[in-house]
Amino acid sequence: MANATAKNLSLQGLGASPGIAIGKAYLLEHEDVEVIEKRVIRPEDVGAEINRFKQAVQQAQEQLREIIRDVPDEYRDHVYILDSHMMLLKDRMIYDGTIEQIRQKRLNAESALKIAVDKVKAIFRKMPEGYFRDRGSDIVHASKLILENLLGTGPSKISDIDQRVIIVAHDLSPAETTQIQLAKVKAFVTDRGSHTSHTGIMARSLEIPAVLGLANATQLIHTGDIMIVDGSAGTVIVNPNEQTLTRYHERKALLEDFQAKVTRTSHLPAETTDGHRLTVTANIELLEEVVSVMDHGGDGIGLYRTEFLYMNRPALPSEQDLFDNYRDLAEIMGTRQVTIRTLDIGGDKFATSVPWGEEMNPALGFRAIRFCLQSPEIFTAQLRAILRAAYFGNIRIMFPMISQVEELVQAKQMLREAAESLDKEGIPFEGDIQIGAMIEVPSAVFMADVLAKEVDFFSIGTNDLIQYSLAIDRGNKHVAELYQPLHPAVLRMIHRVVQAAKTAEVQVALCGEMAGDLINVPVLLGLELDAISMNPISIPGVKNFVRNLSFEESKQLVRAVLEQPTTSNVLELIREAYGTSLETGDFFSGERGIELGR
Ligand code: PEP
Ligand code: MG
Repeated sequence: MANATAKNLSLQGLGASPGIAIGKAYLLEHEDVEVIEKRVIRPEDVGAEINRFKQAVQQAQEQLREIIRDVPDEYRDHVYILDSHMMLLKDRMIYDGTIEQIRQKRLNAESALKIAVDKVKAIFRKMPEGYFRDRGSDIVHASKLILENLLGTGPSKISDIDQRVIIVAHDLSPAETTQIQLAKVKAFVTDRGSHTSHTGIMARSLEIPAVLGLANATQLIHTGDIMIVDGSAGTVIVNPNEQTLTRYHERKALLEDFQAKVTRTSHLPAETTDGHRLTVTANIELLEEVVSVMDHGGDGIGLYRTEFLYMNRPALPSEQDLFDNYRDLAEIMGTRQVTIRTLDIGGDKFATSVPWGEEMNPALGFRAIRFCLQSPEIFTAQLRAILRAAYFGNIRIMFPMISQVEELVQAKQMLREAAESLDKEGIPFEGDIQIGAMIEVPSAVFMADVLAKEVDFFSIGTNDLIQYSLAIDRGNKHVAELYQPLHPAVLRMIHRVVQAAKTAEVQVALCGEMAGDLINVPVLLGLELDAISMNPISIPGVKNFVRNLSFEESKQLVRAVLEQPTTSNVLELIREAYGTSLETGDFFSGERGIELGR
């Protein structure tokens, strides 16, 4: 009876893509071949063994090529990930590393490959959880294809799934994800992965609910189990009882009605009942997400995280690569504003193409603007690319992690120099570009009046501001409860920044995850932010909500909120004022959605 799944088993993971799915589980059996025979080969066989390895790599390339060729239309936008896997098959550390092991240690190809992959894994494991650590798994996925060929087991066949199911897997490689026919997938559930893993990103852009990082879902769930996947709350319920099932069916119907309703009006401006207009923009990480921004009525792009272009590649992107990408984005968005944030690597985001030393406290270390100011070549290439792309659209530039005014002054100086060099070379660019600073460090909050003199706009990055002000690691599950966007200290800081911005007459936006949670919206409106920026899927719900709010009342609410001693008091006030309007909206809350006692 080892295989029976518990009844009404509730599992908590990371809600990586919102929405509710109810259906049958399809478990992708996926034994990682950990036990590999290690053999020492005869010196005269070394050449043949190296050839066997090269052949397996070639086979893997052909298989990937085939997968790329057969990618269904709905996944076309993600083919670049597979292209990067193609490159990873010839990655120096894996390819040359394996050949070196065969040659020097006279090992069989399988174990030589395993040693090379383990070395790469060890490097990535040292990186803090998140964004760039996920890129380590790309290399592992790519090398798995080679191993399967060496072992003669061939790649896993998942294109045969023939009914609409919830995919349960240990981890999903992009090659696997793109083989699955979208129409057959109700949701994704995985042991590994995070908000920024490819499965998470793809699920979000395809609007398929996903709960990732469950650790042992594949051990607890079996094919055929009935499952509920709540991608907003990050909850998975296996073999639910009648009562739970009914409750979730109702919520799902409510959610779908709500989403359909709000999407119909998402092109309308977010204007309050008393005529105040709030700009609602999108945060994106990939160019491909632009379609979703348009579909969901985004007024522009409030945050383009540019780190992805530095990942999945052995070498840094060239100025031309960056320019092409930014220009495409600007052209698609037309007159709508696009805010490009300069490179924010370090902290929780690392790039494979940039060598990184080990740091005790990466979040407090060499990251973002600190890294860029000391890496003039990398920074200048990006600045030039942004200035050139701005010639083709409505682009503004923003610098992350500013902690003192000198950084801003220096970054602006480098931007000026980049412009001068373009001018000299006769390359078209936009010289009159709006410049902004992200406010995500407490020192920037308190120096906002000084910083305001240097910029055209602020964007408050609450994901980091909460982390730094409340001393809560934003990626640490164990302290996630303490990560409170509505903490009075956070709200007072936002208030302070807005006041400084208003006095200096610079625009002020907020682009942390909290902007997409309906419960925060009346407070953000009442704090008098000019714009809020969020994941594209949340935009219709937020815009719809704002259209039902009164600006005057929200300002009154904020006056009371700023007097409160605790987060629970703040929450109580918001619920008292808006409780019923939030009932459906909480489905759309981000990864740290607040339970509203529904
Ligand atoms: C933030 O810190 O709030 C932010 C928007 O930036 P990121 O999440 O990329 O650090
Ligand atoms: Mg940040």
